[in-house]
Amino acid sequence: MAYHSATGPIGAEGRYWDALLEGRLELPRCKGCGQWHWPAVWRCGSCGGWDHEWVEQSLAGTVFTYTRTHHPFGGTEAFAKPFATLIVTLDTVPVRLVGVLEGDETGLRIGAPVTGTIARTAFGDAQIPASRWRLL
Ligand SMILES: [Zn+2]
Repeated sequence: MAYHSATGPIGAEGRYWDALLEGRLELPRCKGCGQWHWPAVWRCGSCGGWDHEWVEQSLAGTVFTYTRTHHPFGGTEAFAKPFATLIVTLDTVPVRLVGVLEGDETGLRIGAPVTGTIARTAFGDAQIPASRWRLL
């Protein structure tokens, strides 16, 4: 299934969205030099290669940083306020992802280990796949 934004098809990261819709996290690695690229790119900035392979990753990492949202805005209707949004450094690859924290915030700090799941966020009539994180 191809994922389309409100304005049209997604670019180089289309495979990311397709995998999330199927319940997997996949990230691109350059076939020429092995460099991980996130956000996805069409061409590798390290070796100039055009070919990437998409590799499934586990949703496990540590909190790089976070922020807490207290006021509603478009797209956050489904979350009880306040909620925390994390930037997580994955354990398996040098990539950081953004996602909302689920569950108890006790122990939330930079460097805290987390595990993730793939959920859907309601945005208007659309269901957008997204990573969610829980503290270990
Ligand atoms: Zn490369």
